[in-house]
Amino acid sequence: MIPVINPATESVFAEVPNAGVEHLDTAVIAARRAARHWSSKDLATRQSIVLELVDHVRANISELARLVTLEQGKPVAKAAGEIESGLRSLERYASWDIPIEVIRDNSDELIEVHRAPVGVVGGITAWNYPLLLALWKIGPALVTGNPIIVKPSPLTPVATLRLGELAQEILPPGVLQVLSGGDDLGRAMTAHTGIDKITFTGSERAGKSIMAGAGPTLKRLTLELGGNDPGIVLDDVDVESIAADLYWGAMSNCGQVCAGLKRLYVPGHLAPAIEEALAEVAKGVKVGNGLDDGVDMGPVQNAAQFAKVRGYVDDAVDRGADVYFCGEVPEGPGYFHPVTLVRGIDDTVPLVREEQFGPVLPILTYTDIDDVIARANNSDLALGASVWSSDEQRATKVAAQVEAGTVWVNQHPMLTSDVPFGGIKQSGLGVEQSIHGVLEYTNYRVLRVKR
Ligand code: NAD
Repeated sequence: MIPVINPATESVFAEVPNAGVEHLDTAVIAARRAARHWSSKDLATRQSIVLELVDHVRANISELARLVTLEQGKPVAKAAGEIESGLRSLERYASWDIPIEVIRDNSDELIEVHRAPVGVVGGITAWNYPLLLALWKIGPALVTGNPIIVKPSPLTPVATLRLGELAQEILPPGVLQVLSGGDDLGRAMTAHTGIDKITFTGSERAGKSIMAGAGPTLKRLTLELGGNDPGIVLDDVDVESIAADLYWGAMSNCGQVCAGLKRLYVPGHLAPAIEEALAEVAKGVKVGNGLDDGVDMGPVQNAAQFAKVRGYVDDAVDRGADVYFCGEVPEGPGYFHPVTLVRGIDDTVPLVREEQFGPVLPILTYTDIDDVIARANNSDLALGASVWSSDEQRATKVAAQVEAGTVWVNQHPMLTSDVPFGGIKQSGLGVEQSIHGVLEYTNYRVLRVKR
């Protein structure tokens, strides 16, 4: 069994099975058996079953949200919002047609391009948005005709297991299975000859290991990895009007967002005003147990991540950083990290160079726009980025030079289910969301008839 810790209390609140290779083998057999009948249902039938699943999960949203808060830490209203947003994505995926492309239909030949399911999908998820990440994988897999085996993070497996239980009341056996387990189980899924695709959300380190592990079976891959998103503020902004969006761009989900704002570049002369405006927003933020009323931000999800975030701040201070704002946290147990705003460092400091994934934002100054674009691009990670300006044309001109899967203007991040989301460089492979993301769960199958 795996003990599951509530990050707000540091106490074990649940135990879940630690599945081994023998359980994985059994799940794969069930999934392969299910694949035959699930893939042979027509698209409309699969879509209507997915919509039934959405209704059933929605009817249980309060219970699921509470479980997410207990294992992940975020405020319960935000957990419910996360699940609802995932369900709306499923509704959208279940509304799209997947047409057959007819390339030629004449007296000589009929050539059609069909989209066939890839087979059995393995979904591996991280601990920052347990159910949203799972739903983003379950929806496209099921709609396109693939059974899926989901492995949540061993740090946040409970809500996903409950989701799997609820799904058994709607879906045919073997179509959706949830196996809880550690990194070894993820490695076994990646190597398994009975799994045809891995869709993964998590760290760059694990993403690289999955890519290597998938080589011998040449699995299809979608990899959503880390980010170190820059935000570039131009000198024409109205500081007051963007301050809250900048702040929450960095601090949503306690800073544990793959495409969160992780390093903020501001013109030197505007730095004092921006720093003060961010601190003003931060002062109004209540940190605490996500089950309590009025809490805006919960704890960091786990002890190791807490230590990592604290380490980045301590190291930055050793290198001369000025922590000009440090928020309050509740007394007692819990991985509560104060909201921390840092200035007076350059891009060589690990807090800037690496992904901090916590409620800490470094604010850096610049004088030359070409130079700051080069600094923003000087990273192996390129998930998201943002440009902030009162002049849309100016902003989009800068945005065009920033290397990232998504460049937002005057917002950061903003994800919707009809828009592709994915990283370039070492932030990932392929996209999730949108029809493009859904079609990543299919293979081309060409039908070519000689007449
Ligand atoms: P992690 O990579 O350690 O773990 C993620 C999942 O992968 C877990 O289920 C884990 O058990 C499994 N895993 C770990 N090593 C594996 C391996 N070698 N083979 C197969 N599976 C393995 O990541 P984490 O610490 O849970 O999450 C934080 C990271 O995830 C951050 O870097 C963050 O930016 C990233 N993330 C990215 C996105 C995105 O969409 N791009 C979204 C959320 C989080």
